[in-house]
Amino acid sequence: MLHYISTRDQSATEKTFEDVVLDGLAPDGGLYVPTGCPLIDPDELKSLQNVPYIGVAHRVILPFVEGCIESDELYQLLERAYKDFQHQDIAPLVELKDNLYLLELFHGPTLAFKDMALQFLGQMFDHVLHKQNRKLTIVGATSGDTGSAAIEACKDKGSLDVFMLHPHGRVTDVQRRQMTTVLSDNIYNIAIEGSFDDCQDLVKAMFNDAEFRQEMQLSAVNSINWGRIVAQVAYYVFAYLKLSAMTGAEKVAFAVPTGNFGNIYAGYIASSMGVPTEKLLIGTNSNDILFRFLQTGCMQTNGVVPTLSPSMDIQISSNFERVLFDLMGRDAEALTGTMIYFRTKGPFSLDTNIMSRLRELFSASRFDDDQTMEMIKTLYTDTRYTADPHSIIGVGAAEDYLKTHPDTPVISMATAHPAKFPEAIMKSTGTFPDLPPHLADLHEREERMTVLPNDLDAVKNFIRKEKS
Ligand SMILES: *Cc1c(COP(=O)(O)O)cnc(C)c1O
Repeated sequence: MLHYISTRDQSATEKTFEDVVLDGLAPDGGLYVPTGCPLIDPDELKSLQNVPYIGVAHRVILPFVEGCIESDELYQLLERAYKDFQHQDIAPLVELKDNLYLLELFHGPTLAFKDMALQFLGQMFDHVLHKQNRKLTIVGATSGDTGSAAIEACKDKGSLDVFMLHPHGRVTDVQRRQMTTVLSDNIYNIAIEGSFDDCQDLVKAMFNDAEFRQEMQLSAVNSINWGRIVAQVAYYVFAYLKLSAMTGAEKVAFAVPTGNFGNIYAGYIASSMGVPTEKLLIGTNSNDILFRFLQTGCMQTNGVVPTLSPSMDIQISSNFERVLFDLMGRDAEALTGTMIYFRTKGPFSLDTNIMSRLRELFSASRFDDDQTMEMIKTLYTDTRYTADPHSIIGVGAAEDYLKTHPDTPVISMATAHPAKFPEAIMKSTGTFPDLPPHLADLHEREERMTVLPNDLDAVKNFIRKEKS
């Protein structure tokens, strides 16, 4: 049976799937990884070719949750997680042009790929908490693009309350409404009179207050949670199976618009499980720490600039630590040293052997906002396909790769529906992307939120009051 260890725990204390899902981040600041990687052999892969999404996801996820969740329970959780998706394939594979495919991951309730993982994580939390007869309070901050996915994932779950902070008046109408029109009793939207950074500071302060944290049983659903990663591995396997069923392809490359490295890390796991993967292609916007790292071998932060693809505006890619852990021979002591050096002193470089192994697995492309707009327009003109400013960066990375590897099919991850970013789409294609039918009345729906000052006590008192 698989267990989990923290990348920074030198004693390699083994935890269960339940522990790591509820913990999120390990107490030592490291990330949880499984003690081994389950395999799917080529014959079994072939036998899965025409299995629907839920069946594939079940096969992929089961070995990671064994001992905590029964096989038929897992199946039910998956059915519930993906029942509100608007496409029968859950994640349909679309052919764009010769050897270039898109996996559309945006058919969930909030129109972005976060739903693929969070809808599953919400079910998982609820299941585990009921089993343990516990309740948690999820607290988070959002600049607008990711809060709604967490809210949709947790709404109506009896074991969870969600307090989501966003900067008052500084998110778009669509972003706010995707959060505030969820009227479930366990969802609290708080608009803070301040910036996104203020919201994040408030959340950090609550987590750092040990007494409050304990009293309220605070938890988070952030992108380093293993429960999210494992749900994402499923669609890499599914995409490969679809492609090989359609074209007989034996190998594939994956292109991924990358921020925190959660999505592409799942591709790395799928590849380790047996999906024949030629290359994992990282696409970044101007926040290009990984691009620079692969180019120069030096990991160095550079601040964050706002771009047209806000969900990829990151300073460091947290999940990258998990790959580093493997490449450093799972040496927790060496990895901890490197990570602490990076946080406290600054830039670090790695051994040339590690760098060459890394470059065998990954390559990276970078696109600024002008290139992003240009690529959206060109793709639309050539194919009539509208890609959002995140998805197009994957397409750009895929096209870069195809220049030198024209015979390897590339599946690029489409991470958001174009209607989430209407201004950029309108400007580059001249066409307004409509919201899909299930959200068409978003602007008429009733909203509920509470405006609070940028004041820690005010927020804590609000949470205490609502919980009592
Ligand atoms: C979160 C997000 C990304 C980045 O994914 P990571 O797992 O952080 O690399 C890309 N596109 C969209 C639309 C997102 O919401």
